[in-house]
Amino acid sequence: MKRKVYKFGGSSVGKPETIQKVIKIVSESLNNNENTVVVFSAFQTITNQLITAGEFAASGNEEYNLTISQIKNIHITAIEKLVTGKTLYQTRNKVHKLLEDLEKLLYGIFLLRELSPRSKDHLMSFGERLSSTIIAGAFISSGIEAEFLDSRKLVKTDSNFGNARVNFQTTNTLIKDYFENVTSLQVVTGFIGSTIDNETTTLGRGGSDYTASIFGAALDAEEIQIWTDVDGVLTADPKKVKKALPIEKMSYEEALEMSHFGAKVIYPPTIRPALVKSIPIKIKNTFNPSFVGTEITTSAISSRYAITGISTIENVALIKIQGTGLVDVASVAGRIFKVMGKESINVILISQASSGHSICFTVLESQAKKAVEFIEEELKYELTEGFINSVEADLEVSIFAVVGENIRNMSGVSEKIFQALGRNGIEISAIAQGSSRLNISLVIKRKDESKALNAIHETFFLSDYKAINVFVIGTGSIGRTLFQQIKNQLNYLYQELKLDIKIVGIANTKKMLFDYDGIDVNHWEEKLLTKGEQSDINLFFDTIKQSNLPNSVFVDCTSSELIIDKYLDLLSSSISIVSPNKKANTSKYEYYLQLKKAVQKYNVSFLYETNVGAGIPVISTLQDLVLSGDKILKIEGVLSGTLSYLFNTLDQNNTFSAIVKDAHLKGFTEFDPREDLNGLDIARKLLILVREAGYKLELEDIEIENLIPESLINNVSTDEFFNRLHELDLLYEQKWSNANKQGKVLRYLAKYENGKASVKLESVDVTHPVYSLSSNDNIITFKTVYFNERPVIIQGPGAGVKVTSGGIFADIVRIANYFY
Ligand code: ADP
Ligand code: ASP
Ligand code: MG
Repeated sequence: MKRKVYKFGGSSVGKPETIQKVIKIVSESLNNNENTVVVFSAFQTITNQLITAGEFAASGNEEYNLTISQIKNIHITAIEKLVTGKTLYQTRNKVHKLLEDLEKLLYGIFLLRELSPRSKDHLMSFGERLSSTIIAGAFISSGIEAEFLDSRKLVKTDSNFGNARVNFQTTNTLIKDYFENVTSLQVVTGFIGSTIDNETTTLGRGGSDYTASIFGAALDAEEIQIWTDVDGVLTADPKKVKKALPIEKMSYEEALEMSHFGAKVIYPPTIRPALVKSIPIKIKNTFNPSFVGTEITTSAISSRYAITGISTIENVALIKIQGTGLVDVASVAGRIFKVMGKESINVILISQASSGHSICFTVLESQAKKAVEFIEEELKYELTEGFINSVEADLEVSIFAVVGENIRNMSGVSEKIFQALGRNGIEISAIAQGSSRLNISLVIKRKDESKALNAIHETFFLSDYKAINVFVIGTGSIGRTLFQQIKNQLNYLYQELKLDIKIVGIANTKKMLFDYDGIDVNHWEEKLLTKGEQSDINLFFDTIKQSNLPNSVFVDCTSSELIIDKYLDLLSSSISIVSPNKKANTSKYEYYLQLKKAVQKYNVSFLYETNVGAGIPVISTLQDLVLSGDKILKIEGVLSGTLSYLFNTLDQNNTFSAIVKDAHLKGFTEFDPREDLNGLDIARKLLILVREAGYKLELEDIEIENLIPESLINNVSTDEFFNRLHELDLLYEQKWSNANKQGKVLRYLAKYENGKASVKLESVDVTHPVYSLSSNDNIITFKTVYFNERPVIIQGPGAGVKVTSGGIFADIVRIANYFY
């Protein structure tokens, strides 16, 4: 008969209903003629509650009684729900006896005001003893011949309470001998053992997994199955990375590294006994039993990914020993680690980067203070003599480990890791690589842990998909249309371009809303209205920064001056920006330069193609020309869709006032057309082009012709302006006929040449590229050193909500491509 050891963790025995699932799983195994042994943890939360009760009691706090009654309740309810028939009486008696003993033990702790490691182990053992007693009763009640087995009888350890080491020789013999004569299903307590003197010990938190492996190895089992609440070992902790994927197969070494670096799903010592006997370990999900789960074996794994998994440890501190006189690093390191070993301080990672002047390593945060004290004591001489300047503990850090057999075979894995972290502004304080070259582990700031996990996870496992997190401010016509376009394209983007765009924040002047799972673009407006909180610009930006999401993009769909002040801060926080808002690039030249520098320094993107010519590729063309080493000699063009339309339509039949009113009706102008006609917006566009061409210019340096005379500006309301607009008809009719007589047309031209910039109405002849402009098209010409005789000409619809938001959308997609 095939021998198998099944272990069910606290998460599988959280509630009586889930224990029914466990019984079903075990029954199926027995029906398959398997010779099964089952190992159980305490019911979920019980071990922690026992510790809390013990600590309360030891500190003289009578509240421990309350915890006892909660513990009692949980177990008594479980008996009532799971145990029936003849065994009920017996099970009840055993449990009551255990609970009585527990109460006595806690009362003793209360009287002595002392919770030694020894009594703490004894205290914790009640969890597994209670759960296994009840579950044995539950098996019997469902017709399975079962027997409670107290593992303290068989698992023999040293007296290192809290983390006892197993004496395998004795243990293996005891287990083998015991199982010679049993026929019924053995329901074994996980986690606990005992010393030669029969004092209770525990195998370390999470140790029930280990018990299963100890029994499996001793009995030469065919398989050890760890049943838990997830689909196996996943590529990352699913509590931290939502898109974590199950790993089908992995090697013992990989499992060891993953668990060593924090994957709680397996307790690290579990691996060894199984490995020595080459017994496969399977991780299965009690709540999804038909799923294959993960198989851990010796065989080399051919994962299709460059890495197998990522794990993190949060509660660590980085100890740094620095000094210019630290010459013999090896011998000092040797002394330090000897002391750490002697004092039972667990060194999790030693940095490879131990340069001539420093040594870094990590310990559990709870042991950091002690570690520093012991090192200072050990290095007293070096510190007094000034060979070593300081011994410091950096507390706010996490270990971040990337694990996989493929790491040693594939080049470029570490580059990819560093690139993804760099792009997201994640600083690395220390780096280490295990001697097996199976992992790369890094020490990073704790606040960056989730961002790093998700960024690396996306890079390696979901690289088929490019995921970006988008924050949008402004829900006017542009923002609105952008959402509409994203909505229409979402499926196409996901399926064809493998682009996963998630809108995680939206704000307008009234409301703001965040949802890190993504705001449903189909119902963004309703969600913002019903779920949004009152808008607060500062809070909005603080939240973006604090959310610290990987691959973040901020989209500014406003034309507000207030927002552009935040750009520098965002870029410095590794958040990319897409902006149709011209204000940033047209504020002081100094600020413009600062933005450019931040883009370089933080390796982020700042795209603003829509600043000029809406969606037509004006800025990117100009940037490409400059990048290719060309020099821009002259920029000239019609940069406003509104003014393009006005002068393309003006003739003997269409008066100026009629066209302005018509354009207004069609939505081609601002609410007050004077904002278009004053030329300022066009001057801003020219300013951006000139700066992109590499020239220093301020807005004040541009000569601007306002098409509206002062008499129609000062103290004239919009309504009144419309009423009196006809006053200008004669002026423009004359200008038109003057030009017409010479075979020319009127165009409102933006021009830069030889350091001089202007935006003004000019008449041009048929040889000029803007002559034949029609509709509301924009046209931009660049005369350069390379394109001298015939300048580069870009023409197209340069205005309109649709083309503008289309341009913004294109910029967002461009950034997504850049991230991967
Ligand atoms: P049990 O009570 O069954 O022993 P644990 O809570 O000890 O369960 O371990 C399972 C948990 O381990 C999962 O719920 C998950 O949050 C966590 N975990 C951490 N890293 C990983 C990983 N890489 N794969 C799967 N689970 C992980
Ligand atoms: N019940 C023990 C603990 O909580 C052992 C285990 O769950 O594996 O640590
Ligand atoms: Mg566990």
